Amino acid sequence: MKTSSSTSLKVKSLNPKAKKPSAIKLKKPTKAKAKTKYAHAELEHSHAPILPTAVKTKPILKRNPLGHLLIEKMLREAGFRGGISSDKRVLEKYSTDESIFQINPQVVIQPKNRTDLEIATKVVARETKRFTSLSLTPRAAGTGLSGGSLSDSIVVDVVPHLHKIGEVTETKDGALITCEPGAMWREVEKKLKRHGTYIPSYTSSKDICTIGGSVANNAAGPDSLRYGHCADWVESLEVVFNDGHTYTVAPLTYKQFKSLTKEKHEYARITREIFALLEKNEKELLKAKPKTPKNTAGYALWHICPQGVAAFKKGKGTFDLTRLISGSQGTIGIIAGLTMRAIPIPQNTSLVVLPLFTLDESAKAILAALEYNPINVEIFDSLTFDLALKNPDFFKKRLVGMDYYKTLLAMYTTYHIRLGRKTPEFTILATFDEETTSETPAEDIARAMSVAGAKARVVRNPHEVEMYLQIRRASFSLSKMIDPDKRPAAFLEDMTVPPENLGKFFVEIKKMLK
Ligand SMILES: Cc1cc2nc3c(=O)[nH]c(=O)nc-3n(C[C@H](O)[C@H](O)[C@H](O)COP(=O)(O)OP(=O)(O)OC[C@H]3O[C@@H](n4cnc5c(N)ncnc54)[C@H](O)[C@@H]3O)c2cc1C
Repeated sequence: MKTSSSTSLKVKSLNPKAKKPSAIKLKKPTKAKAKTKYAHAELEHSHAPILPTAVKTKPILKRNPLGHLLIEKMLREAGFRGGISSDKRVLEKYSTDESIFQINPQVVIQPKNRTDLEIATKVVARETKRFTSLSLTPRAAGTGLSGGSLSDSIVVDVVPHLHKIGEVTETKDGALITCEPGAMWREVEKKLKRHGTYIPSYTSSKDICTIGGSVANNAAGPDSLRYGHCADWVESLEVVFNDGHTYTVAPLTYKQFKSLTKEKHEYARITREIFALLEKNEKELLKAKPKTPKNTAGYALWHICPQGVAAFKKGKGTFDLTRLISGSQGTIGIIAGLTMRAIPIPQNTSLVVLPLFTLDESAKAILAALEYNPINVEIFDSLTFDLALKNPDFFKKRLVGMDYYKTLLAMYTTYHIRLGRKTPEFTILATFDEETTSETPAEDIARAMSVAGAKARVVRNPHEVEMYLQIRRASFSLSKMIDPDKRPAAFLEDMTVPPENLGKFFVEIKKMLK
């Protein structure tokens, strides 16, 4: 699929000349890099060394350098007010995210506001005619595991200035919240919590990632088992398309669609072309649709017009381009604002925990849990548990005051007394809401989840619940503590496995990784 016209802004993965595999360098496991991870120092002056010294590496690519050399001048002339830098140390810092890749950008920009985003888009769209290797790649918190925020051209860091969070509006189903793309998930969560609501597609990285990056990745998290991906919680998006204008993208009725597609602007063009693409290929697309509810690979074409083109033309359902933009990783436009839906935080939930010492029975336990419509089913392995036990200080930053001591006490009591100083091969955690447990008591669910040699238990102590959730959420970060001079390589992307095959899958994957 192409979204670009001849005057188009070139966007990373749609650019045929964009980074070739040879341009991708695997990251060196160094301490210095791990330390500079989430800093988003503001770019005050161009070429100013504003970041902590990073490890020096040779520039990876210098294709078509003139465009990159002139871009600052061109942006300033067009009125761009934010930070612009091509300082080596800045580029070095933006050359990594949480993936295994390293690509040095040529320039990093930090837009001050939406107008800056529009200016940058307009200038780059115009200049790609002369300088074909120019492109814009948005970057939020840079916690992505697949290198989506890396580029060999211009990185647009939205975190330093585009992080405002609007007021919460309560609705009959929960709430609506509007924010800029660089708003940290944890800050949005705090604001929603005051209204008793949350966005249920939160990721395990919610303490370190943004709302914009999560929607652009169509991220999913623990509660996605019941509540789906981030795209499912988007009400509307403000998107800068390659004509340098911002459009409100929201589900359209057929009447609205008809009126929009008569327009001459970029949003209208994209809408017309995507509709034509769906209409022409509907059968093929339906045939190719993955059968799994979890899927973030490629563009989610199936969800744009789920009732089908014919039904839509008769006035049924909507045509929703937010479904395409969510998960498109900045390849269609830059998200400048988001309105997200939130629902009430589940109250009186019950956590059932099953420590498993052999993996063969895991599928049976998980299938039993799934029978009771859990909010989430999560797992962590023995290495994660060991690392948590050995690194109590790790939790100091995450837990405040007495909560820290009480949670640690729960962790060591569980290990020494409940588990007889043996860390289980896997710990399965399943959360059930009040609606479920008022019909089937949590103790009965625990009995159903128990397997030969392993008894599931309902955890009632809130600090023990917190301990399990903390360990699960921290599993990736804890893995950095195996060796402080090395960093873990997130080389396995999300995988989808039929639950009945999970036991076999775990056994085989553990064998492969030995
Ligand atoms: C410890 C850990 C746990 C994680 N757990 C999960 C998990 O449970 N579920 C999950 O899905 N992922 C998980 N991740 C991966 C990652 O954290 C999430 O996908 C997160 O939502 C990305 O947000 P970010 O702000 O870091 O975005 P970034 O990594 O900065 O960007 C992500 C993508 O969005 C694009 N983008 C950023 N801003 C914009 C914008 N304004 N407009 C358009 N495109 C934009 C970028 O170009 C990039 O392609 C985890 C990562 C870590 C390190």
